[in-house]
Amino acid sequence: MAITIDQEARTALTPDLVTMSRALYRRGWMEGTSGNLSVRSADDASVVLVTASGRSKGELADEDIVPVDLATAKPLRTGGPRPSAETSIHTALYRSARDCEAVIHAHAPYATAVASLAARRGESSVRIEDFELIKGFGLADPSSVTVPVFPNWPDVPRIGADVEAHYSALGAAGDAPVPVLLIAHHGATVWGPTLEAARNRLECLEGICQLLLLTQQHG
Ligand SMILES: [Zn+2]
Repeated sequence: MAITIDQEARTALTPDLVTMSRALYRRGWMEGTSGNLSVRSADDASVVLVTASGRSKGELADEDIVPVDLATAKPLRTGGPRPSAETSIHTALYRSARDCEAVIHAHAPYATAVASLAARRGESSVRIEDFELIKGFGLADPSSVTVPVFPNWPDVPRIGADVEAHYSALGAAGDAPVPVLLIAHHGATVWGPTLEAARNRLECLEGICQLLLLTQQHG
């Protein structure tokens, strides 16, 4: 019964999502009502708890956390707030990416700028080398990473389909992907085994992108 899932899920992880949303808003990475966060339910692995659409992340409340079906990205309850318009990107990652238990999407400005510049050059990824912060992604080889840049289709489920195809192919090949991605002219999405791990990776990605732009400016 959907109401039961909702109540159980809220008690477990809702406060974490609300607190993290407010913290990321204060960093200036979720302007207006942008940005969205989710976690896989601790009670049911087929359920994802995601922030509501159209809410300021600086003023989020417990009732703004919406349980959705991981398989369909559809809300599990009728009435109440709608899930984020970008929920299909989250559910695509839970279905296809490795060690994905929490997802954060933000309009962090340096990451967004790097994604825009790559897209304008017609590139579908950004190669990053040398920066110490790469270690924050938890990869076996932190000497360099290639971060994909996905097109910002107006039809968000199409972005989700691109994301799922990309990470499913990597998984099938046995490759461990870098747990961050960029969306052209839009923002960054990161994931990890916990909400805190995803937040740390977002901080590292934004810091790296700031350094990329600073070093490019100075040749
Ligand atoms: Zn967005």
